Amino acid sequence: MTSDFERMLRGVDLRVTRPRVAVLSAVYDRAHSDTDSIIGVVRADLGDVSHQAVYDVLRALTAAGLVRRFHPMGSVARYEARVGDNHHHVVCRSCGAIADVDCAVGDAPCLIAADHSGYEIDEAEVIYWGRCPACVAAASAASGG
Ligand SMILES: [Zn+2]
Ligand SMILES: [Zn+2]
Repeated sequence: MTSDFERMLRGVDLRVTRPRVAVLSAVYDRAHSDTDSIIGVVRADLGDVSHQAVYDVLRALTAAGLVRRFHPMGSVARYEARVGDNHHHVVCRSCGAIADVDCAVGDAPCLIAADHSGYEIDEAEVIYWGRCPACVAAASAASGG
């Protein structure tokens, strides 16, 4: 798998470094990770790596399109390796759990803006909000249902 990550880095003209491989691997292993949990995984792998180094790697990987960053309101930024398919996210208001939701119609932008104000729109980034199955079950158990 490491060699796959090395190939991906070379494919976008990024030099292969151990922190870049470790961060890419962490994001592939855990969809929707935040920076702190990625730092934890990378440190378990490589020993002492600075926060700044991990931030810099995440920024480079995101800019190169290997990693996608999204930022639910009221939460910290999340990273994932599922790129290029314009999928959306559903976030649980109670516990913050995040799941993928496929693009509504299959191509970006999957939503037609009611009024595009003259802009040429190429993407719609949607976050659905609600409660995850675990929180729904816990709430109905608590209410005796
Ligand atoms: Zn929940
Ligand atoms: Zn996702």
